[in-house]
Amino acid sequence: MAFRSRKGLDRVKCKRCSKPLKTLKSIEIGYGPICVKKQAAEDAEFERIQITLDEIVEPEQVAQ
Ligand SMILES: [Zn+2]
Repeated sequence: MAFRSRKGLDRVKCKRCSKPLKTLKSIEIGYGPICVKKQAAEDAEFERIQITLDEIVEPEQVAQ
């Protein structure tokens, strides 16, 4: 396997742990294979919290 833009690949780092990304898939995502799973789990948790907040806020708006 030969990468033509090897210098460019070496500069791309994981947005989460700053380790250099080695595969094109990781570079496209911006995270390494482990960090992308952690990030996905955190995003899911964030969305779950968002939904919970909306459910709390909504009845108050109806009451006023
Ligand atoms: Zn990482």
